[in-house]
Amino acid sequence: MSEQTTIQAFVRQDQAGDPTITDMLGSEMVVVAVGKVQEKITIHKGLLDNYAPAMSKAAVLLSTQAPIFELDLPNVDVAVFKLFAQVMYSGGQVPSITATMLPLTQIVLIRSLAQLYTFFERYHIKFELCNKIMDRIQDGYVVMKTFPSSDFASSIYKNTSPVSKLRLFATSCLAYQLRMEVDAGQLDHFKDFLMAHPEMLKDFLATMKGYVPETDPRNRQCNGEPGCTECGSNKERMAGMTGYWPCYFHIHYGYLHNGILKIVRPAYATEEEVEMYTDPGCYLWNIDGHGAY
Ligand SMILES: [Zn+2]
Ligand SMILES: [Zn+2]
Repeated sequence: MSEQTTIQAFVRQDQAGDPTITDMLGSEMVVVAVGKVQEKITIHKGLLDNYAPAMSKAAVLLSTQAPIFELDLPNVDVAVFKLFAQVMYSGGQVPSITATMLPLTQIVLIRSLAQLYTFFERYHIKFELCNKIMDRIQDGYVVMKTFPSSDFASSIYKNTSPVSKLRLFATSCLAYQLRMEVDAGQLDHFKDFLMAHPEMLKDFLATMKGYVPETDPRNRQCNGEPGCTECGSNKERMAGMTGYWPCYFHIHYGYLHNGILKIVRPAYATEEEVEMYTDPGCYLWNIDGHGAY
């Protein structure tokens, strides 16, 4: 018998009265059957309308008497879907890896965030959530003082598309490690790993072509650009540290097709059915149209 998860489990007490989330909720509900075990998770359809329109459109109305829909997601991990629900019910807050967490907790959370990211790519979830997760993954590696492991990188390549920014992050980390951390004794491991992953080898070479030596991909470095909300008035926040442009690993451009925003242009769609899309702004910047991307 499948376990029933109620929405109360996800609503954060301090945000339960937040008008923006309340406005989004509405009265329609979706019963989502998740994973091979078909665990039933009930969520507000209004949240899917906002964060995951592709899922919302796929939900089927069960009865005209009550506004209840159903949706089958057999290939989605239950824990990943629950994390997604938690993110939606908290108004788009993505959990951070903190220095006070146990090392095992940090590793589990960073893996869950990467899984959530690949799930978002697959189901065309709002770009802003993908970008927030990417930032939390970068921050997580800074806190853990480490880089994506080779297992982590291979699993990213197994579960993402060639345009994935998560792939770009993984190969940028490899490039940095090659310059900063890999000594002659480790070169064979590096070679074996890349030879076992030809797709990654190709991306790695492309990354190396434009790589600025010793630039740390885990850091977001704006060099005092006005409008950066992370630096705010503290322009010296990243002084002396190397890093990538804050939006470098973000998604801000896409294709609108039947009301669903996609990263890749759908091959089967005609020219008239697809519209190019540019984000109106990035959550990291507070000046409209300036400094973003
Ligand atoms: Zn900044
Ligand atoms: Zn951005």
